[in-house]
Amino acid sequence: MGQIQLTDLMKRFGDTVAVDDLSLDIADEEFLVLVGPSGCGKSTTLRMLAGLETPTSGDIYIGGDHMNYRVPQNRDIAMVFQDYALYPHMTVRQNIRFGLEEEEGYTSAERDERAVEVAETLGISDLLDRKPDELSGGQQQRVALGRAIVRDPEVFLMDEPLSNLDAKLRAEMRTELQNLQDQLAVTTVYVTHNQTEAMTMADRIAVMDDGELQQVASPFECYHEPNNLFVAEFIGEPMINLVRGTRSETTFVGEHFSYPLDEDVMESVGDRDDLVLGVRPEDIVVADTDPDDAAIGDHELRMDVTVVEPHGDQNVLHLSHPDQPSDDDALQAVTGGMHLVTRGDRVTVRIPPDTIHVFDAETGTAVHNRRHDQEADLTELEQ
Ligand code: ATP
Repeated sequence: MGQIQLTDLMKRFGDTVAVDDLSLDIADEEFLVLVGPSGCGKSTTLRMLAGLETPTSGDIYIGGDHMNYRVPQNRDIAMVFQDYALYPHMTVRQNIRFGLEEEEGYTSAERDERAVEVAETLGISDLLDRKPDELSGGQQQRVALGRAIVRDPEVFLMDEPLSNLDAKLRAEMRTELQNLQDQLAVTTVYVTHNQTEAMTMADRIAVMDDGELQQVASPFECYHEPNNLFVAEFIGEPMINLVRGTRSETTFVGEHFSYPLDEDVMESVGDRDDLVLGVRPEDIVVADTDPDDAAIGDHELRMDVTVVEPHGDQNVLHLSHPDQPSDDDALQAVTGGMHLVTRGDRVTVRIPPDTIHVFDAETGTAVHNRRHDQEADLTELEQ
């Protein structure tokens, strides 16, 4: 069984704490993505799991067995790195076969048979007799995967395996990897700094910052119910809008606008004074161009469009407050691609009360996340 348990795992390099007191349970057959900015400790975590680094303290269990002192070969894992590390003088067949080099109990014919089987699974049977320099980047990555799969391990460890591929191929390989993981049903820990990969591939995402685990949850939860400002900012593209302000009775007061807080929000906010108001760009409702003298509602703002980024299916609007210099973007909003606004338009912008997040400005902790009916939302997602 490929369940993994990390308890109070710590790794120091001199004065640097690379991984700080990490506890994490990963279920058998789960696809867990470790994500975070450069230097947050994700590769070190993966390397400890692989047996390439020794923990300073804490414990690692795979399939219930204590792993801290086991050499990598005895951990029943297979690793795939960003650098495919294929042997240039070997054919695809030999490279895949090489994954079985240290495995006992296979005859030479069985090793060949296994390599052919794996090549079929990966759709590269026709490449078996080619050398790596006769392959595209995507094909090389498949061979590297083949070398990992051929051993039929309990756990796959993958460190940025798609980052050398161009955007289109990366998107294709994301789907392929997910299908493959499903088909092979092998517990997978996948490291990336790319939040799109994390969101699209993971059963659960573990978000790390500065060696510390910030949240481990489904992509849905990390996006809609972030634990703190770090997770809210890290997950989502374009990034969540965050406005600093203070509370005046039941109103959030930012530099350029005031926003009344509903009763349930106030219950969570309590007597906190310094707040950060968050709203996702796609939740902002941008009305058509509005004359200056139109009435503005409680949850509405009048803003100027400073930049329009057309993406075809949608437009990303950069908006600033009329009393701000035009290059100072206050909010970003995502509208439909057919919603035609142009730079310089003055628009009315609505921030629906259902969609706001409120954070404690001092600690960064989320005190209120957007309202949603999770069961209904998930059912809709599945349809
Ligand atoms: P990246 O995405 O850039 O690979 P990461 O999140 O994988 O980053 P790690 O490589 O785990 O981060 O590094 C975590 C911290 O530990 C960093 O501050 C890094 O400089 C430090 N570190 C990692 N390996 C070593 C080492 N062998 N010696 C000293 N410091 C190290």
